[in-house]
Amino acid sequence: MGARTVWKIKTSEEHAIHLYSHWQGEHKTRLTQVALQSARPRWEDDAYCARIIISSLIGKDWGEETGWGIMAGHPDAEFFEEEYDPVTIDVGKKLVFVDGDAYTFEELVAFDHSEMMKCIVGDCQDQIPKDVWVEESGFCVEHSHAYYNQELDHVTLERIEN
Ligand SMILES: [Zn+2]
Repeated sequence: MGARTVWKIKTSEEHAIHLYSHWQGEHKTRLTQVALQSARPRWEDDAYCARIIISSLIGKDWGEETGWGIMAGHPDAEFFEEEYDPVTIDVGKKLVFVDGDAYTFEELVAFDHSEMMKCIVGDCQDQIPKDVWVEESGFCVEHSHAYYNQELDHVTLERIEN
């Protein structure tokens, strides 16, 4: 078991550094925020910015044999397995794309740190902040109420027909 994820650090329309982590997927948003914050004094300098982002992400694991990989290639190439939202950091445009949505560096750093989790009810698409999700045993607000009002079958989590 791992938590495989990739950061693509885009340096031109044709080129990106693909940084692979075997374990850090769960903390992807927070690590991205810390990396951008570390690079802030060099946001205007693409090469230093890219290097500081990589240094920050790998952090104390520099020198370890396992855990991280790097490939260079086209931004759209997929060298590694991705189990989380795709993140591309464009150091030229100073934009971060998270699952296709663009944020400025400033916006991403200011982002609420809590990660979003999906409601555990099968067909529910609701995303809830992780701390709320833990408190509510994995339910969105609506399904949490339904569960505690005995409107959901406790095994299948389907609505009980009256
Ligand atoms: Zn729900």
